Amino acid sequence: EKLGIALVGLGNYSTNQLAPALQETKNCYLAGIVTGTPSKIDDWTKKYDIPQKNVYNYENFDEIANNDDIDIVYVVLPNAIHPEFVIRAAKAKKNVICEKPMATNVEDAQKMLDACNENGVRLAIGYRLHFEPFNKRVMEFGQQQVFGKVKSITANNSSDMTSNKPNIWRLDKELAGGGPLMDLGIYAVQGAVYTMGKPPVAVTAAYGEVTKPLYFHDVEQSIHWELEFEDGVKAQSNSSYAEEQNELSAEAENGWWKLSPAYAYEGKKGETSEGKMDYPNIYEQVKQMDSQAASFRKNEKSIVPGEMGVRDMKILMAIYESADAGGKRVEIQY
Ligand code: NAD
Repeated sequence: EKLGIALVGLGNYSTNQLAPALQETKNCYLAGIVTGTPSKIDDWTKKYDIPQKNVYNYENFDEIANNDDIDIVYVVLPNAIHPEFVIRAAKAKKNVICEKPMATNVEDAQKMLDACNENGVRLAIGYRLHFEPFNKRVMEFGQQQVFGKVKSITANNSSDMTSNKPNIWRLDKELAGGGPLMDLGIYAVQGAVYTMGKPPVAVTAAYGEVTKPLYFHDVEQSIHWELEFEDGVKAQSNSSYAEEQNELSAEAENGWWKLSPAYAYEGKKGETSEGKMDYPNIYEQVKQMDSQAASFRKNEKSIVPGEMGVRDMKILMAIYESADAGGKRVEIQY
């Protein structure tokens, strides 16, 4: 029997990716919705055959504790609101999937993980690329030293996420926690870390120039950083809301590889020093949610657990700390 998922927040990602993916999942299905926008309810309940008793708003959400149709709460809200809903879901004794970035600071991320542990539920993060063939192969290249030891990594993720609107939550530090680093750069950080199979020990970072001050007075327009791993390997990264970049590549002792695009939903391409990488482009959110539902059912940790989200918040905050301090080398404490 499939586990029931309730999506919290019916914005772009829920509407265009997760809900359609949940029509193809085998281990879970779209059982409920939680929304602050009543006008969306009719469309969603009709389109996805969701009973009225499985529809909640942000005020009555805690009553979900009494609803046996809902096994998993999937939080797809602006970043700063993730903590509140993950913690409320945990108190309602529901397993939780939380979108990236998990929170906007390390303290909140740790509280979310603690709340899930205290309530005996599991927490997984929406890191879809761990379920995708090109990125999985890169994990093997790096971690199993298929081309020898990794010598250096380049990971860039940039895109204009402003929708030509200066007042969206992604440009509001309170709600987003930061700019492109929080939204896109997190994939580059993840890419470097899963290429190496271990977290970095230190970081240096610098903000880029602001050329569009109407949009970027609260969060950074762009940022670049260098992660340093314990054996001296370095990963160079850039993330910007005013460029287009989508790359995860590495040089190793006996060869190289490059994914580009590496992080997009579709159309991934890869090449190595030995030729083209040939894998199917899959519906990765389907794989992600099926894997997470299976782990919840077995009461096992997901391969992208809450702990990984906390770890990444520590890395992201160290990147900002370094950039704020004018490029000072910051050691990362885990
Ligand atoms: P969005 O702006 O399209 O949707 C956000 C939703 O939150 C809207 O429905 C909005 O009504 C609701 N909301 C509730 N309180 C709000 C408030 N105070 N201010 C603004 N909106 C509020 O955003 P999105 O692109 O769907 O992103 C949602 C989350 O999903 C983010 O954490 C984002 O990083 C993540 N995301 C992940 C992926 C991925 O590939 N894993 C892709 C896109 C987004």
